[in-house]
Amino acid sequence: MTSQADVIVIGSGGLGAATAFHLVKRGVKRVALVDKHDIGSQTSPRAAGMVSCVRKSELMINLIKLAAEKIKRFTEDTGQPLDWIHSGSLKVARRAQDADVIDSDIARGRGLGLDVERISPQEAQRLNPFLEPEGIVAVMRVGDDMYFDPSQVAIGFARAAEIGGATLLPHTAVTRVRIDEGEVTGVDTDRGTIRAPIVVDAAGAWTRQVAEASGVRVPLVPTAQQLFVTEPVEGARADLPMVRIMDAAVYMRPCDGGLLWGVYEEHPRFFDMNGLGDGFQIKDMPLDASVLWQYAEDVKPQLPILLKAKVREHRGGIPTMTADGQHIVGPTPAVRGFFFASGCNVAGLSISPALGEALAAWIIDGAPPIDLTPLTVARFGPGSWSEEQLKQQAAWQYRHFYGAV
Ligand SMILES: Cc1cc2nc3c(=O)[nH]c(=O)nc-3n(C[C@H](O)[C@H](O)[C@H](O)COP(=O)(O)OP(=O)(O)OC[C@H]3O[C@@H](n4cnc5c(N)ncnc54)[C@H](O)[C@@H]3O)c2cc1C
Repeated sequence: MTSQADVIVIGSGGLGAATAFHLVKRGVKRVALVDKHDIGSQTSPRAAGMVSCVRKSELMINLIKLAAEKIKRFTEDTGQPLDWIHSGSLKVARRAQDADVIDSDIARGRGLGLDVERISPQEAQRLNPFLEPEGIVAVMRVGDDMYFDPSQVAIGFARAAEIGGATLLPHTAVTRVRIDEGEVTGVDTDRGTIRAPIVVDAAGAWTRQVAEASGVRVPLVPTAQQLFVTEPVEGARADLPMVRIMDAAVYMRPCDGGLLWGVYEEHPRFFDMNGLGDGFQIKDMPLDASVLWQYAEDVKPQLPILLKAKVREHRGGIPTMTADGQHIVGPTPAVRGFFFASGCNVAGLSISPALGEALAAWIIDGAPPIDLTPLTVARFGPGSWSEEQLKQQAAWQYRHFYGAV
């Protein structure tokens, strides 16, 4: 096994694999991409694959716009396949206060060059006939939104990184990041030690476990998220705009002739990864269909199809939530050479092309191409959060993903 690298990336999901690919692309010779399971096999391939361009801050809108462009150019850039559809989306408010959010989304989005407008519920139904106008107060059409096949991103980046010279090390568990006098010196794995001055913790649901094994704290909570994919449904064209119902936090998009849909439920399930044991894989996460059916009832007047369509697949994963709903990316001030690419907040796969590129530049140039300090772990301050507080705020961020108030 490799015993020396310039950069070790722990975790070959979307965030880690994108970082490894961009490091290689920028000319870093010895990149080791280490994963305790198969490459790109954990939460990333189980995502919905939706790109949402209207975000709460200018920084996030700029990053996701860049990511969307990179998704469209994925095959050109990496030589690997990626199926994507530029469908646009409809964000639906059923309450007056959420219509106000839509108005401010439109003002912010337009200011940053997004193709956004308010349309009538009837126009929305014309664009996506599965959406019934009943009970709808306002709809925002987002022309920039798109979706892609989630199973192709992490594996595509990882393969391209390997072709460019990176060493892929599947079935290699990092047990500890080695830190000597405040500097990273490498990692210990169950197959031996690899030395390197820079380590990226992109271990997804296990990010915190990896960091804490080395005495580094990071405030994020592994959180269940699940979805259904239905059997083919007549009229479910691939280019129908995706639908998001704000207060219910339900999403739906076309998928293989049927529909894919999920929810950010009010009481999310959190996990302590240490308690799940070494052999645990994301596919072992227990699923709970009753959560999805409960919310299908909630949105029945707008999306009656959800209760009618036959379910073909039920899948889920464990993204990581933070207290402020922002990603955790960049160096930690506690240890030189220790970087994070995590805190995905259920939106890490779509943004991974942009974050991977920015993080690679940060590692190589000593600074990111755009100011990403609002995303660093330093924003939380040492010991400024209790576990209870973190979970409460993370649950709020999860439930209010679509900005409902
Ligand atoms: C149902 C669902 C719907 C979603 N919908 C969307 C969406 O529409 N759009 C979007 O952008 N995102 C979505 N997401 C979120 C998205 O899946 C995540 O943000 C993204 O996949 C996170 O990638 P990751 O690299 O952090 O994690 P992962 O893909 O889980 O990768 C982490 C890797 O680290 C490895 N690892 C862990 N510990 C160690 C160790 N000690 N040593 C070595 N390797 C280790 C793991 O084996 C794993 O392969 C959704 C998620 C789910 C579950």
